[in-house]
Amino acid sequence: MGLLALGTALEWPEAKKRADQVREWGIKQLLEIWNKAKGKERDAMLWGDEVEYLVVTYSKEEEKVLLSLRQAQILEALAADKELAKEGCVPALLDGPVEKPKSHPLPVFHPEFGRFMLEATPGKPWGIGFKELLDVEPDMKLRRKIAKEHMLSKEHPITLTTFPQIGVPGQFTDPYYPPSGSKLRSQFVPDEIANPHIRFPTLAANIRWRRGRKVQVNVPVFHDKNTPTPWKDPTVNYDLHNWPEDDDVRNGAAPDDFIHMDAMAFGMGSCCLQITFQAKNITEGRQMYDQLSPLGPIMLALTAATPIYKGFLANTDVRWNQISRAVDCRTPEELGEKPLQNDRWRIPKSRYASNSTYISTDPRLRPEYMDPDLVIDPKIKAKLMEGGMDDLLATHFAHLFIRDPIVVFEEDLQELDLNKTDHFENIQSTNWQHMRFKPPPAENNIGWRVEFRPMEIQVTDFENAAFSVFMVLVTRAMLSFDLNFYIPIKKVDENMERAHGVDAVLKERFYFRRNLFPLRPSRANTAFGEESRPGSAMPSRSGSPGLPVDDEYADMSIDEIINGSADGGFPGLIPIVESYLDSVNVDVETRCQLATYLSLISKRASGELDTTARWIRNFVAAHPRYKHDSVIDDAITHDLIGAVIAIGERESAGKNFAGLGIHGLPRLLGRFRGGCGQDPMTNGEDGNGDFVAQ
Ligand code: ADP
Ligand code: MG
Ligand code: MG
Ligand code: MG
Ligand code: MG
Ligand code: MG
Repeated sequence: MGLLALGTALEWPEAKKRADQVREWGIKQLLEIWNKAKGKERDAMLWGDEVEYLVVTYSKEEEKVLLSLRQAQILEALAADKELAKEGCVPALLDGPVEKPKSHPLPVFHPEFGRFMLEATPGKPWGIGFKELLDVEPDMKLRRKIAKEHMLSKEHPITLTTFPQIGVPGQFTDPYYPPSGSKLRSQFVPDEIANPHIRFPTLAANIRWRRGRKVQVNVPVFHDKNTPTPWKDPTVNYDLHNWPEDDDVRNGAAPDDFIHMDAMAFGMGSCCLQITFQAKNITEGRQMYDQLSPLGPIMLALTAATPIYKGFLANTDVRWNQISRAVDCRTPEELGEKPLQNDRWRIPKSRYASNSTYISTDPRLRPEYMDPDLVIDPKIKAKLMEGGMDDLLATHFAHLFIRDPIVVFEEDLQELDLNKTDHFENIQSTNWQHMRFKPPPAENNIGWRVEFRPMEIQVTDFENAAFSVFMVLVTRAMLSFDLNFYIPIKKVDENMERAHGVDAVLKERFYFRRNLFPLRPSRANTAFGEESRPGSAMPSRSGSPGLPVDDEYADMSIDEIINGSADGGFPGLIPIVESYLDSVNVDVETRCQLATYLSLISKRASGELDTTARWIRNFVAAHPRYKHDSVIDDAITHDLIGAVIAIGERESAGKNFAGLGIHGLPRLLGRFRGGCGQDPMTNGEDGNGDFVAQ
């Protein structure tokens, strides 16, 4: 999340009055960038990852695990050491088995929404070289190690998407603050859970204010054998009378069979893995934006890691919809609950949602792929087109600009500075879609970039590196082979929903394009191949208007999408990546390491290895304190977090668990968990003797 300049943040009624001005100035800034950068050519093929961490306070002895709220102090300590490092005196940072990647600057740490979160990126973006792909995992390990070294001994950076007990009654933060502050008005979490920078509490408060009630983050509870039906969230308090919003639950905000959450922190407090690519020019950027979009739900399901909310097992495996609801600022009119009177339009999606536009100039983009329900601001579109922008891109931004700016600083509205992008970024960076098309910033020599945002963070850096590198390789293969992943955008939306199911990676099917290649393959008429057209011997572009759109895609399993179909009709992304690697010069050592990453993805897709979500579910199910009633108590949380910390520390001590990531851990769990009994994944195998985390 980019930080806006400090200043006087307006409360919602005032901010709303300035919304048109922010949009107008934002559009002017966008046109300025467009005119400056639309002809930019030959930018380097750079990319970068973002890893987010929760900071927990954990000790073996104390059963309670807490979220540490010392983000600011940790970042200060990191910044101070970074200054020392510049002077050539790297303190205790770099001893031990994690090596600083050669010729790469030290990683950079950033604040995040949760005051219990950190984000870390490489010190500079990664380049085009294949060898550099091997620096990603050591760099991620280094980040974890550096972060840890700037924490108290009881604090640990962990890469779980969500803290299992955020919002449970009683203490879950260190230090303790009582809930129900004036900004969030949550009955479960205190205002102090958010980064105190004025931007963040204002964002949360103004989203609530704009909605006219608190956000409603309801996630279906997982019904285990002892979970009552109907299930009523026992943590909901119906008798609070501190804020008008306390009426929400009395007005039905907490339906049966849903875990009820009521604050931005339940969504924006989750950790993800994001990848940003720089394109060589705007045309390639627009192509990458479109082509990576259908991969979003597939990668979300493959990285599923979020089975627990507020102390209960959920009946979903991923974080996406919860974040979407946690920042859903739509009014009852926009939601269609009331007739339109004051608002301009009904809006089908939250401002955090799967993306709704395709933007490429690729002739393979058929009009039928576009979202028929797309809401745009026609005046904004007209202004952009008057400024020289083409219809498709103007449509994209006119869609993003249906939203109000949520955080508006009085000081920024005095004078329009066309050398800045602050007003544009204000709207752009609060449209949290699963792809983001990032125009060059005003200041420095950066190109057009595309961000891939749906992936869930993984417990180990091996896994996070594997998914990052996989996305890089898929993108390179896509560009090199001119692959075509287009399906109707509505089908991407539907896939996004499907990705939420428990074990969706194995149990769901996903719409996916049958023929990815620009030329018709010689093997036509197969289950997944494009149908041959009688009388035509010439290869045709896939996506030819001749073929009905609905015949261009099929319902596939993720195993088929990633590994290929059994009958060979659909090649699979990994075999495509392999043939891409065959077509370029990669040395043996690099290729071997890349193979371990591809193998992880492949096995996730086939079910040979579990997702993180499944791993967590199995851990819970095998825990002696678990009563099969969907409740995640202090003891289970303690042991789960203990296991996650242990694997992280063990990994940064140089073990990569035989390329299995988190799956290397279960073999060790029997010993680790002491009395916890047999882990369901070990099949009776004994633990590794030197595992001494507990
Ligand atoms: P945001 O939080 O807005 O998504 P960040 O500033 O955290 O963006 O950076 C996202 C990623 O983009 C980082 O990994 C960074 O290294 C990478 N990055 C920065 N500049 C470029 C660039 N020119 N091309 C590609 N990636 C870049
Ligand atoms: Mg972030
Ligand atoms: Mg970032
Ligand atoms: Mg940023
Ligand atoms: Mg709901
Ligand atoms: Mg990002």
